Amino acid sequence: EKMYGVSQWGGGYFQIGENGNVQVLPDPNNSSVKIDFKAVIDEICDEGVQFPVVVRFHDILRSQVAALNLSFREVIAEAEYQGEYHGVYPVKVNQMREVVEEIVDAGQAFNYGLEAGSKAELLTVLAMNTNEGSLTVLNGYKDEEFMRLALLGRKLGRRMVVVVEKYSELLLLVKTSKELGIEPIIGVRAKMTVKGRGKWESSGGERAKFGLTITEIINTARYLEEQGMSHCLKLLHFHIGSQLTDIRAVKEAMTEGARIYAELHKMGFHLDYVDVGGGLGIDYDGTKSTNESSRNYNMQEYVADVVYGMKEVCDMEGVPHPNLVSESGRAITAHHSCVVTQIVGEIRSDSSKMATDEVDGEHIFVKNIRELAESFDEQTNMQEVFNDASQWKEQALDAFKLRVLTLEELGKIETLYWQIMGRLHEYYSTQEYVPEELQELNYSLSSQYLCNFSVFQSAADTWAIEQLLPVVPLTRMNEEPTVNCSLVDITCDSDGKIDQFTIGREITDIMPMHKLRKDEDYYIGLFLTGAYQDVMGDMHNLFGRLNEVHIFSYDDDPQDFYIEEVVKGSSVEDVLNIMQYNPRAMASDVKRMIDKQISSGKLNPREGVKWTDFYESCLSGYTYLKP
Ligand code: PLP
Repeated sequence: EKMYGVSQWGGGYFQIGENGNVQVLPDPNNSSVKIDFKAVIDEICDEGVQFPVVVRFHDILRSQVAALNLSFREVIAEAEYQGEYHGVYPVKVNQMREVVEEIVDAGQAFNYGLEAGSKAELLTVLAMNTNEGSLTVLNGYKDEEFMRLALLGRKLGRRMVVVVEKYSELLLLVKTSKELGIEPIIGVRAKMTVKGRGKWESSGGERAKFGLTITEIINTARYLEEQGMSHCLKLLHFHIGSQLTDIRAVKEAMTEGARIYAELHKMGFHLDYVDVGGGLGIDYDGTKSTNESSRNYNMQEYVADVVYGMKEVCDMEGVPHPNLVSESGRAITAHHSCVVTQIVGEIRSDSSKMATDEVDGEHIFVKNIRELAESFDEQTNMQEVFNDASQWKEQALDAFKLRVLTLEELGKIETLYWQIMGRLHEYYSTQEYVPEELQELNYSLSSQYLCNFSVFQSAADTWAIEQLLPVVPLTRMNEEPTVNCSLVDITCDSDGKIDQFTIGREITDIMPMHKLRKDEDYYIGLFLTGAYQDVMGDMHNLFGRLNEVHIFSYDDDPQDFYIEEVVKGSSVEDVLNIMQYNPRAMASDVKRMIDKQISSGKLNPREGVKWTDFYESCLSGYTYLKP
């Protein structure tokens, strides 16, 4: 537990069981509901679903929707706040139909709505059966079609709020709504001067891509007044960035946003809602700090700052408390999904060795490094051994390029070098002081565990923005992990790796894992992937989407669960089709080549048929490795 910090980043949803397996607690208010992750893996295997697999715990989604809404309700009651909470889920964070449907269903009891930021997302949310009392907030850049779709929503009785992101959208919206004779609900997004803290801080500030300046907001209100539509202006929106690491940014944004709302009210524009956007962060590294992959507050503290922040300003200004809207996506979805995969191999620089015995006429470099390897002991100056060995290895490489050393001699030098480094590493692992250069030995002598998945598909943010995602073994947590390693994926790209972990409060580049055993699969879970990762993956190396299983717990048996649905990932045919290939034509081309070999007598017909079938079955098979 100390090593992997499961309870720190797990948000109450994950813990380590006495049997050493990760357990899932989908309902934090009822700790008797416990799912053993190994049992989930066994069931996935029994169902014949190939790894890697995205495992979704739908109960966790429901729990998070309830937690956020109840948090707002509680704080609103406690603060005697006069407005209500009308949260919306921004579908861009995870647009998967099953995810959105689950959130909509869990949100019915809370008038929880949806947010869309593009035309495709708008078409999606229009077709979703949200509660009549809930909002649908429309952000992002818009064209006339977008406006018409939003107005169709109004015709269908939906509370669709078109948030104006730039001034020209206002003119288009007013024109379209007049043409169609449908009254819109209008929001304005303010360009905030407050900047968030963290990787997404450019969402705020004067150079922010979205939003209206104060002058533009005033002009918007005045224009609507001229058009006899000032009553349509109902919502003020701001969003200062996702994954806010420091609670101070939330407090500052609330003060600025509340002041704009209050001033508009005093100018005669009585808005019903203030939408505080997203930003509620996730403690990916479990440090509860302002690290980029963490945050120094929790959901309750965030909600309290939003509610009290608004109340304070409104009370001071003598204006009514508006209804509050937030657009938390990350906080709703991150925990519910995790990528499970097996380790399919181990890579070590010092894994293969060759005989290094002395031979006649061998080069002096080989002789020197052998003598060094044989002669040093604990009394020797270890720093000097390191320097000499490193220098000879470097010189040997130059000598090889200049045709002075043979390939075999270079191989011997490599073997002896790693032998020396291994011994130095062993020595320094018992010492308190390790010279700076030698600290790297920990990393260079660590293993790389080869994982059957693609970082680019399943953990895009670890590659793109160095986001830390917790990754832990799913079993054997009651055994000492003795292999220091980083993780590499199966893409042909050296960026396809995970070498950022947390141990306790420290960020490290290697993580202790367990020694691989023959004939026993070793499964790891990449956690908190439900927000953004699920949908941002790309097609690098044509691996495509993962198989998915959706897990629900039984109400009557707290230890049991069932796979409610298996969603098949990409087959090779699927990904080839996307790239404009015609897999059927490819299969017949290959068959023709095989037939040619058969007719020229180079291939026996029975074998030829087998090869044809094999090619076709690979085309329809999964894109990942079959270990
Ligand atoms: N609303 C808007 C306008 C956004 O741009 C985003 C994401 O950046 C969100 C909501 C979701 O934010 P988060 O996932 O941090 O809750």
